[in-house]
Amino acid sequence: MFKNGMTYMHEHTTIDLSEVKNNEDCKLDVFSETIKEYQTLYAKGVRNLVDVTNIGMGRHVTYVQKVAEESGINIISSTGFYQESFYPIQVLRETQQQLAERMITEIVDGIKGTTIKAEMIGEIGTSYNKWTEAEKKVFKAVIIAHQATKKPISTHTSLGTLGHEQVDFFKKNQVNLNRVVIGHVDLTGDIDYILQMLREGVYIAFDTIGKESYMPDHVRAEMLKKIQDKGYIEKVFLSMDITRKSHLKYKGGIGYSYLLDSFIPLLQTYGITRHSIECLLIHNPYAFMKELGESI
Ligand SMILES: [Zn+2]
Repeated sequence: MFKNGMTYMHEHTTIDLSEVKNNEDCKLDVFSETIKEYQTLYAKGVRNLVDVTNIGMGRHVTYVQKVAEESGINIISSTGFYQESFYPIQVLRETQQQLAERMITEIVDGIKGTTIKAEMIGEIGTSYNKWTEAEKKVFKAVIIAHQATKKPISTHTSLGTLGHEQVDFFKKNQVNLNRVVIGHVDLTGDIDYILQMLREGVYIAFDTIGKESYMPDHVRAEMLKKIQDKGYIEKVFLSMDITRKSHLKYKGGIGYSYLLDSFIPLLQTYGITRHSIECLLIHNPYAFMKELGESI
């Protein structure tokens, strides 16, 4: 199902990376606060959110579905494996075929015995400037799962690195690049690097909006203006990749509605048109996910 309205394309409703990061802030499990923020998003016109939390990241699909019911937002679930630092043990023990079968089962039958099916393969990651052997195995498994199910693929790049290598990998494996989104590319701050990916035909995500300590939002706005000028705005998604309690408003963070309340007005001051903003938030996600159908 895909609803008519705005879509956040790369989020985590609940996620737990606290063990590896040794930081309790990275356990985002504040159910009632998340519902409050998602209800605010709904009131502003957000109707879909792609949750790219997958196996080993503290994914909890029944929790997520309750948030969906309480907020009215259609939340799309994902399957796959994130990046080597966070892999569950099965990635090391199993073959690429077995890992692919795990993903296919979650897409075809449902996740962990529920009827909730994964509609996205993601977020599938490479490490910082390094593509480890285990990560290569996962990407090969992703190709098998994608070929079997035709589900779209959403990637993670570490601070935007290896984006070109990811595109080359999908090209080499005959994946339709129109079914792939390369994530976190805004963190490169490098418009030429990003345009080169767009010329290849992939979607790209500016999905760390508001993370000013990594990249100032005015740089994101300048890059989006150049993308608009070059005619590629229809291949870009926006999202915030909120993963910590401290990102939420109750802890003094910017919260999920920052994208709509602060970043979109900023884009307008940089000459991003109303049509482009509708593409970024409504039409582009729909074009990418349209096989899910539309319902209001
Ligand atoms: Zn990520």
